Parts: sequence; C-alpha cells; structure tokens
Amino acid sequence: MKNYLKHHEWQIIEEGFDPHYNKISESVFSIGNGRMGQRANFEEDYSGDTLRGSYVAGVYYPDKTRVGWWKNGYPEYFAKVLNAPNWIGIHVSIDSQKLDLAKCKSENFKRVLDMRTGLLSRSFAATFADGKKVRVESRRFCSMAHGEIGAIRYSLTPLNFSSKATFSIYTDADVVNEDANYDEKFWEEVYKEASEGRALVTAQTKKTLYHVTTGIHYVIETEGRKVTFDRINVEKREKYAGNVVQMDLEEGKETVIYKYAAILSSENHPKGKLVEACHHVLNESVTAGFDKLFQEHARVWHHKWEECDITIEGDVAAQQGIRFNIFQLTQTYTGEDERLNIGPKGFTGEKYGGSTYWDTEAYCLPFYLGTAEQKVARNLLIYRYKHLQKAIENAGKLGFSNGAALYPMVTMNGEESHNEWEITFEEIHRNGAIAYAIFEYIRYTGDSQYMAEYGLEVLIAISRFWTQRANWSSHRNKYVILGVTGPNEYENNVNNNWYTNTIAVWTLEYALEGIELVRKDNPARLKEIFQTTSFEEGAEISKWKDIAEKMYYPEDKARGLFLQQDGFLDKELLKVTDLDPEDRPINQKWSWDRILRSCFIKQADVLQGLYFFEDKFDLSMIRENFDFYEPMTVHESSLSPCVHVILASKLGYKQKAYEFYLQTARLDLDDYNNDTEDGCHITSMAGTWLSVLKGFGGMRIKDGKLYFNPFLPEHWKSYSFRLEFRGRVIKVKVSKERVETILESGAPLEICLRDEIINLK
Ligand code: BGC
Repeated sequence: MKNYLKHHEWQIIEEGFDPHYNKISESVFSIGNGRMGQRANFEEDYSGDTLRGSYVAGVYYPDKTRVGWWKNGYPEYFAKVLNAPNWIGIHVSIDSQKLDLAKCKSENFKRVLDMRTGLLSRSFAATFADGKKVRVESRRFCSMAHGEIGAIRYSLTPLNFSSKATFSIYTDADVVNEDANYDEKFWEEVYKEASEGRALVTAQTKKTLYHVTTGIHYVIETEGRKVTFDRINVEKREKYAGNVVQMDLEEGKETVIYKYAAILSSENHPKGKLVEACHHVLNESVTAGFDKLFQEHARVWHHKWEECDITIEGDVAAQQGIRFNIFQLTQTYTGEDERLNIGPKGFTGEKYGGSTYWDTEAYCLPFYLGTAEQKVARNLLIYRYKHLQKAIENAGKLGFSNGAALYPMVTMNGEESHNEWEITFEEIHRNGAIAYAIFEYIRYTGDSQYMAEYGLEVLIAISRFWTQRANWSSHRNKYVILGVTGPNEYENNVNNNWYTNTIAVWTLEYALEGIELVRKDNPARLKEIFQTTSFEEGAEISKWKDIAEKMYYPEDKARGLFLQQDGFLDKELLKVTDLDPEDRPINQKWSWDRILRSCFIKQADVLQGLYFFEDKFDLSMIRENFDFYEPMTVHESSLSPCVHVILASKLGYKQKAYEFYLQTARLDLDDYNNDTEDGCHITSMAGTWLSVLKGFGGMRIKDGKLYFNPFLPEHWKSYSFRLEFRGRVIKVKVSKERVETILESGAPLEICLRDEIINLK
C-alpha cells in the first residue's frame, strides 16, 4: 500500500517527483471523455520508466493468439485497445539540452487532478546540467463538451538565464502497445501534412483498418502576446508530423504554448473526410481558445457532478476515494454511443486489452442506472443484444447448437477474444450476468417493454446454452455443470460451482417469467420471437423446468454452507490471517499450482451469488456463508471488496463494511494491490459506488419501489448521495441525527425508509 498522494476532497495531489511512483501516477491522473483517454504522461520527453498511453474508444487490434500448445476452440486473437497516436508531445530543449525529468534535477514538482473540472495540471522547476533553471507549468483536459478535442496549456519561464529554446510540437503515430504479442507495430501511415502552426497524421490500424487522424495546432505567446516567427521548420518523418520553432527566452518572462488537438476516427467519420473534418475541428478549437474550451468542458463536469456526486463529511480520505471513482467512471463511459463499452482499465492502461468483460453487467450497470439518464444503461444492454448473433456463433464453435448463446468472457466486437483456457472456456458464469443485467435494468427502470423488444431473445439463447451445458448425472439423480471456473479464478476446472449452478437455474426461471410477461403484454411479439428463434415451446419449456427443479448444488446442510464447488471442504481450511504478509498478494508470490490447491479465494464467489439473489436466502444463511468465506478471501480481484461491503452492511458488520469500503474506494489511490501502474481498476469503481448506495445506504428496489436502510459509518459525520430513479432525482442525506430524503425533481414518489413508507413530494 502506498501513501504518497495527499488527501483532498476534490483533488488528487502529488507533491515531489519520485520516479518509482511515476507509472502509478500516470494511471491515477489519467483524463478522458468517453471518446478518448490519456494517461498522465509528460508533454516533454521523459527517458525514465513510463507507459505512454493515448486511447481512442472503439479502435482495437486483433493480436494473433500466442499460446504454448494450441487447442481446438481457442480464439484466434486477443483484442486490444490500441495505444493511439501521441497528441500531447512537446520536445523542449535549451541550448541543446533536453528537458527530461529523468535527467534534470526537479524541485517543487506538483501534479494535480481537479476532479470538479476534469483538469490535469503539473508544475515544477528543473535544473539542467549547466545550471540553467526553468519553471514549467502545464494544464490539459480532454473536452467533455467536444469528444474529439484535447487541449494543453504549457508554459515555461527561464529563472536564471536568457537563452535560445527549441520547441518541437508534434503528433506521432509511431507508437507501440506494451502488451503486443509479437512486438509488432499496429499502425501504418496513410497520410501526413505539416504547415506552420499545424500538423496532421492519419494512421491506419493493421487488419481492422480503422483510420485515426490526429491533428494538432499550436499558438505561442510571451507575456500574453502571440509570438510570430521568422522561420519555422516543418518536420515530417514516418508517421510523424510537427513544427520546430526556435526562440529567445528572456529571464523571468513566461512563454506559453497552447496546443490544440483534434482526434478523429473512422468510427465516426467517412475515411475520405477525416482530414477535412480534422481541420475543421482544429479551426473551431483555435477560434474558441483554451479558456473558452475549458469553460465548456468544466460546465459539463459541473452538470455531471450535480447528478452523481456523493458527499462524505468527516473523512477526507473516504470523500476523495468516492469522488475519484465517480470521476473515472464518468469520464470513461458517457453512454452516448451504443457501440462502446467499459474496459476494466478504461482509458488508463493496456491491461485487459480495453475489452468488455462481465464486469459491465455485474458491477457497472447499477452505477449508470443510478447516475445517468435511462438511455445510458439501456445502451449497455443494447450492446450485448447486438452481439447476440456472435454469441450464438461463439457457442457454435464450441459444439453447442439450436441457437444456444455463449457470450464471450472478453470481447470487442462480440467475438471471444481471450486466449486463456480457464477464462475463455470455463468462466461460463458470465452468461448469467448478461441475463441478470436485463433483470436489473427492468427492475430499476420499470421499462418492461425491453423484455419484448430485446430481452427475451437474449434470455432464450442463454437458457438454451445452460440447457445443453448442464448434464444429467445418474449417479446423483440431478443435473450437474462440470468443468467450470467460477468468479473465483483461483480454482479452475471445478465441478458444480455453486454460483454458476445457481445463476444458470435463475436464468432459466427468469426466461420463463420473461415469456409470460411478453405473452401478457405483447402476444404478437411473442409469436414473432418464437418464430425467429424456432422455439419449441412445449419441449424447451419443460426441459428448462426440469433442470431448474433438479439441479444439484454442493452444500454442507449441517453447517448451513453452500460449497463453492464439489470437494471444497477437502481443502486445508486456513484464514488469510494465517498467511505471512510477505506471501501477499499470493498471485505475485506463489506458484499457480499452490494457489489452485489452497483454499484462498480471489474474489466473492458464493458471496457473489448471495448478493445477487439475497431475497432467496434468510439472513442466518447469508451470515453463515459470509463468516465462512470472508476470512479466506484475499480480494486479489478489485471486484471483490464491494460485494463484501454490501453483505457486511446487511449483516450489521459495520466496522468490516467500512474497512472494505476504504479498500475499494482507495484501491488505486493507495495502490492496494500493487498494480495501479498497469492502469486504474475502472470497472470495480462502480462497485465502490454500490458500496455506498447498497452497502451503507441499504438501497434496494422491490416491486418497483425504492427502499433505504441506511447506517452511518462510525468515522463519518454524514454522507449524501443522489439517485436518478424513474424520471426523478432523489437525494438522501444520512447524518447522526437523521436521514433526509428529498425529491429534487420529478413527480411525487412513495419510498420506504427503514420500515416506514414516505411520500416524497
Ligand atoms: C477478475 C475477473 C474480471 C477481470 C477483469 C479478473 O481479475 O477475476 O472477474 O472480469 O479481472 O476485471
């Protein structure tokens, strides 16, 4: 755990430059706007340890699978979001010495991310080998108001000299992915141009043939006046275009470079029009100027915060943590484009390839349901609906038939694109999460039409998969599901993972409910669905019912335990507190073999099921299982602590809930799992939000009604959250003295607070 970032309610602050923390900070201070994202790399050169990262949403590369021993059914490729052309770069040199914080001595280094306005700033003084000292200040943002614009204000002041400086201001598509399977470069040049003040490069991805045009335009001012140059060198080389300007700097006088960037992709423009459109966006940016662009951007953030801020009084670390999570989620996915989704690292790193996982449905969906207009969450569902055909093909490749769908564990375009056996083939529980998201969306919004329009087709296809994947065991006289990996990836190829069997049966039952709902509301549509899916009503429905009725679940009835999988109790049952702290995290210290044999659990598994389906179990059952599994859980997936906050809150384990909350809320700020340098854990950030709402706030929806059962963590004076719910905005404030529920907008509504019905007007 690190502790180098200052606690502040609205800002993330790093003071002093420690190269060891640089890659962590590059992740934490990332900025984005749903269309693109940028790690907090320096504008000037940096020869120290760094992961340069710019990402453009939806632009990916299918990197040919690399495995030791090919097995039939392996996906052909691992999709990865591409490290996109660099738009931030400015090479700076003074008398032929490069400004490079790995080589110059730095003082008063400060990096600040202002979450209220989405502004990244950085300042420092640097001393060159010959004693010349400069002060540098930079500010930048990815505009939330104009998704294709990034802007930088970069200033430099000589502190003890007057001399010549050279600035090289550029865009560069000669970038690599750190995670490339074959050290290949993924971009090829299509076009470039450079003129005074402006440069553009259009690059094309290999195989997927996306075009991205990255244009930059800059203006230089000294003491508020635009500087004109006698000579500007236009610089062009392969995949690179820019300008080199030389100017005389005067001691004490600040020179400011305003650099505007327009990043356009062929996902949103015809290829032949990209260059023209890029010029247009650049012209508009320059005319508006940095300050106006920033105001427009900050205004969007202001509105966003009005919709989704959570305040915590009396605990700055907790307040900073939750705002950081909300900030990152909001700048990762705006819900405007149904082709996009949420990668586990968002735009903050390459790990997990920027692809879509079950994380979206199992964790992220409730955040967007609660903090944004309905269409945002709906678009997440439509994304999967549009991939249904591919999911049927994926299942087909593995030998399933009759329209059975297996949604991929990892995907960009609906195809499975991950090459790890135990994840790709065995973690079939993700199919259940996709069904659960339909349920969650309808339960929250009341938009039951969705079932007829899209939901039922998906449910039928997933149910057909479960029907074929379960098999009858004449030994047990029950249905079983063999050879799976549950959410706990520290167990592979297990039989009868309780969570998987549970969600499979739940899906079958929910699909049956879905059929009845559509039969009642829209019989014509039901007929149409049955026709297009060639649904054999009698036979298929009775098979679903049979499986649901006769599924086998591993249990220890005497102890009231649901067993994670067959044979779990044969393990040596240790507790995490028995582990030597030196051995943690076990995934970085132990062999895989040792991990698999141990009882240690990576993330909520049985508990994940108890969280999803809590109404099916009484409190004492939840308690037994929580008390049994929680002490064995190492939480080496960031998706784990939030489920524990929610269940611990329900069970009245307030202190535990609070500890897990801090772990989830500050996971990246404090680098709990020693992996933030790879990127921030964006999808688990939604879990942090859930921890406050469903954990401390006790929020639930039952029969269309909102329920709250809040408590105040001991260390806090109060907390408040806002919720979008069926056309209303509701604010809940919990303090020591009372709970206030306020209807901020929308029609009157009846809610339930603890056991009391309240009419919000
Ligand atoms: C977790 C998975 C998750 C993936 C991406 C893994 O570490 O175990 O459940 O889907 O990360 O976040």
